[in-house]
Amino acid sequence: MKTELSEKLFAKAKDLFPGGVNSPVRAFKGVGGTPRFIARGKGSHIFDVDGNDYVDYVLSWGPLIVGHCHHEVMREVQDAMKDGSSFGAPSPREIQLAELVRERMPWVEKMRFCSSGTEATTAAIRVARGFTGRDDILKFDGCYHGAGDPLLVKAGSGVETLGLPDSPGVPADLARHTLTLPFNDLAAVEKLFAERGGKIAAIIVEPIVGNMGVLVPRAGYLEGLLATCRKHGALLIIDEVMTGFRVSSGGACGLYGIRPDLVTFGKVIGAGLPVGAFGGRADVMDRVAPAGPIYQAGTLSGNPMAMAAGFSSLRLMTPAAYEKLERTSAALAEGLARAAAAEKVPVQVNRVGSMLTVFFSEKPVFDAASARACNTKRFAAWYHALLEGGVYFPPSQFEAAFLSTAHTDTDVEHTLAAARTAFAAAAKV
Ligand code: PMP
Repeated sequence: MKTELSEKLFAKAKDLFPGGVNSPVRAFKGVGGTPRFIARGKGSHIFDVDGNDYVDYVLSWGPLIVGHCHHEVMREVQDAMKDGSSFGAPSPREIQLAELVRERMPWVEKMRFCSSGTEATTAAIRVARGFTGRDDILKFDGCYHGAGDPLLVKAGSGVETLGLPDSPGVPADLARHTLTLPFNDLAAVEKLFAERGGKIAAIIVEPIVGNMGVLVPRAGYLEGLLATCRKHGALLIIDEVMTGFRVSSGGACGLYGIRPDLVTFGKVIGAGLPVGAFGGRADVMDRVAPAGPIYQAGTLSGNPMAMAAGFSSLRLMTPAAYEKLERTSAALAEGLARAAAAEKVPVQVNRVGSMLTVFFSEKPVFDAASARACNTKRFAAWYHALLEGGVYFPPSQFEAAFLSTAHTDTDVEHTLAAARTAFAAAAKV
């Protein structure tokens, strides 16, 4: 596979950007080698600057649930752009998207749009603290909630890939208000709240973890978190930046029947343009400025092109579209497990809807510790063989792969053929 142009660009990029990238996981640190510079995408495929064609399972890390360059999304974004790219004043497209969100997720009684998942989670934490008058928050080891200071503690994703447990630059005085526990251990949460529940403003959780690779919540876990919050007057923030509108039209809350206090969104809600949102109980959201005293703002918040992208993409996600996505995703996950077994490579394929991870582990993977125990050398060998075979998976063991409605049976067949070769390569490590 030719990679000369990517290599040349990466050399230039290293001179311009820290590590050559504008977001850490893109640098391929977890698997080694040169990241591919992507020239364009169409449907389920991306094409790099050297002309290589890949089936794309990164999809910009999740947003592109209808694939790259869907004609309807493009048309609506172009229409919005013709009317003006930003006003810094209210505009009708915000209402259109917000009404659609509330229709699919009635627990989002009021919301606020912003421009990224990080902004959404940062604001949600501030709102929870402002509303409860408490400072501590509880998050879980391996859950990533964006790059905001209070949440960069045991944070998974790029932090995990690079092996940075915390980040320099986060004041210790701030980090001490972020309590952490293992994911999927309800008894530990109940114990912590029994000791200091009165000081905890909120629990923030990825309902299905994507940022340690996919970790599935145990039956009753999310319900247990909600009950604990209720008992101690804390708020439950479900971070649906990755899962929102992806694992079902109602996100993970819809899938598991949870009615949280606050939810955060990003990714799919903006279909590849910069969007985030937070919302939930009206009495809590009415404490946000200018209705209330808790400050949050953004020059580009509710940006018309981003609103148009999100709206047109979500409108395409009909029940039939989710069913198709589920079928393709199940076929891929089952095929990957079969291919691994055929090459005698022990793996765990964790999947919920169109999010999945192939963990190189003999044992079930359900929290950060069991994910960390995976064979990352095998993952790297598998990853590079897949890439050579024209399949673009996330370049880290600790990330989720995503499918879109543009992925076809032919894409899955191609992927499984490449995966068989890739598992044979992994078996040698
Ligand atoms: N929360 C979760 C669950 C995420 O997966 C991410 C991004 N991967 C974020 C928050 C942060 O979103 P953004 O990168 O848009 O700031």
